[in-house]
Amino acid sequence: MKKIAVLGSTGSIGTQTLEVVRENKDIEVTGLAAGSNIKLLEEQIREFKPRLAAVWDKEKAKELRIKLSDFDVEIVCGMEGLLLVAVMEEAEMLVTAVVGMIGIRPTIEAINAGKDIALANKETLVTAGHIIMPLAEKKGVSVFPVDSEHSAIFQSLQGNDKKAVQKILLTASGGPFRGKTQEELLDIRVEDALRHPNWAMGRKITIDSSTMVNKGLEVIEAKWLFDVEVDQVQVVVQPQSIIHSMVEYADGAVIAQLGTPDMKLPVQYALYYPDRRYLPGERVDFWKLGKLEFEKPDTDTFYGLELAYEAGRRGGTLPTVFNAANELAVKQFLNHEIKYLEIVEIIEDCMSAHRNIPNPTLEQILETEKATYERIESRR
Ligand code: NDP
Ligand code: MG
Repeated sequence: MKKIAVLGSTGSIGTQTLEVVRENKDIEVTGLAAGSNIKLLEEQIREFKPRLAAVWDKEKAKELRIKLSDFDVEIVCGMEGLLLVAVMEEAEMLVTAVVGMIGIRPTIEAINAGKDIALANKETLVTAGHIIMPLAEKKGVSVFPVDSEHSAIFQSLQGNDKKAVQKILLTASGGPFRGKTQEELLDIRVEDALRHPNWAMGRKITIDSSTMVNKGLEVIEAKWLFDVEVDQVQVVVQPQSIIHSMVEYADGAVIAQLGTPDMKLPVQYALYYPDRRYLPGERVDFWKLGKLEFEKPDTDTFYGLELAYEAGRRGGTLPTVFNAANELAVKQFLNHEIKYLEIVEIIEDCMSAHRNIPNPTLEQILETEKATYERIESRR
């Protein structure tokens, strides 16, 4: 029986991971970690019976210990708790489904402990890809993409010559504001931005999708996962989200993975690679679908995507600035503290003020994150 631990088990990817586990009945969950949703975490613990569970919030961890006093599970908290779940002896694989750069240290420690990684937490790879990918290689562990586009790329690479890869064609839905101008986005409210046309996801990534910053993060994520230059990654808007991404080879062949939008497919593929298990759900009906559309992304309105390319090209601590500025700006937007268009303005401001550090250590990455947050806080 395969044994996994899941960081971010109460979130969108975390709950879908546990659904896949529930359906298949042959994976043991040894550890779970969440931020503060102890109601759901308690249910998950009672159902999946992990040995260890982490809650970020110390008070909530205490509360959960009391609720589960009749149950055999150890509850830990804070970063220390996350790290304990990440490296736990029993697990072979860690599913990283926390949101944000908070995932860096647990991911690094899990790799150090020899765990394969099913990686949803793209912010980790964007900021620390130059540390994580060589470390994974050194430790002989696999990093399986869970992000739907990267899973599609990974699937399109199977059985092919990686040296013949010419281009990665990263598809994007274009989000809820495709076709809009900057002026039309001036008064966008939180509820508008949280309405994604094709995918139901966590709040942060839903906002990122609407600004196309998510696609920018994915360009950098692809660079690290597939060892390509960011300029080999071309974003193609495919509004129906049926083609999940494609790879173009030296002979001009383009190989793609298609399917109805369902994150359980990439999750299951990462958990069982290289097997393909049955997955219930809707199938693509090409007769009904009729046509697929393609567009060039509008980088006048969505210039956050261009900023990501710049960060990815220059590397160093700049992708951390791009990511950290976005994380805090999105938080502020969700708290109604800033306007929608300010999210990308803040990213641009932080990037232009930053003195880049090439090949940063983990400490320098975390210091850059902190300095970026301080700069944004001082704007108020
Ligand atoms: P959600 O917001 O739905 O879930 C985030 C999870 O992380 C929750 O379980 C949350 O716990 C937990 N968490 C947050 N902070 C901490 C912390 N400090 N310590 C421990 N746990 C914490 O996010 P998503 O599932 O949407 O996204 C997760 C990651 O996957 C992101 O990096 C995202 O970009 C990526 N991704 C998501 C996709 C999707 O379809 N949702 C698609 C592709 C990638 P709690 O709720 O208890 O506070
Ligand atoms: Mg994606």
